[in-house]
Amino acid sequence: MKKALIVVDVQNDFCPGGSLAVAHGDEVVAPLNKLMKEFLDRGEPVYKTRDWHPPKARHFADYGGTWPVHCVQNTPGAEFHPNLLDDPRVTVISKGIDEGADGYSGFDGTQLAEQLREQGIDEVWVGGLATDYCVKHTVLDALREGFRVRALADAMRAVNINPDDGAQAIAEMRAAGAEIVGSESKEAGRGN
Ligand SMILES: [Zn+2]
Repeated sequence: MKKALIVVDVQNDFCPGGSLAVAHGDEVVAPLNKLMKEFLDRGEPVYKTRDWHPPKARHFADYGGTWPVHCVQNTPGAEFHPNLLDDPRVTVISKGIDEGADGYSGFDGTQLAEQLREQGIDEVWVGGLATDYCVKHTVLDALREGFRVRALADAMRAVNINPDDGAQAIAEMRAAGAEIVGSESKEAGRGN
């Protein structure tokens, strides 16, 4: 069983103070840093995805979409959280780069599946932001691509536009075949 770690969208705009802040989003940094270090120490691949939108993406409410402007290419909001481990061995996957793309999933419009297969990866561990959007879609696509998936409940947080969105996302990931590890109360955003 060869595994890889996928750290989803731990970017300034999704953390407290950002334009699309996820409550307690920065709390994923510490557990993900620990895992990244462990994976890299064992020589296992680590990927970081990032939302990387053009300024006039249709994904944004101003241009017909859903969301406030966030993670615009080459802006501070699109940078990874300053405390997130930075290492030259980590592969960065940029998504949502087309004006018409939502880019919720790290597999959407990227080479991630091909890169994982080239490395002989069987299983991916996934955490990051946010549980109910980019993490969920990345997990579901990984399963569709034939990878085993461990969803890291302690290392993800939800937007929770509706209070149960995080919990429902977890249920959906589990129903699709992901193994949920860690405390589900955190990723579901309960107790905030
Ligand atoms: Zn986005």
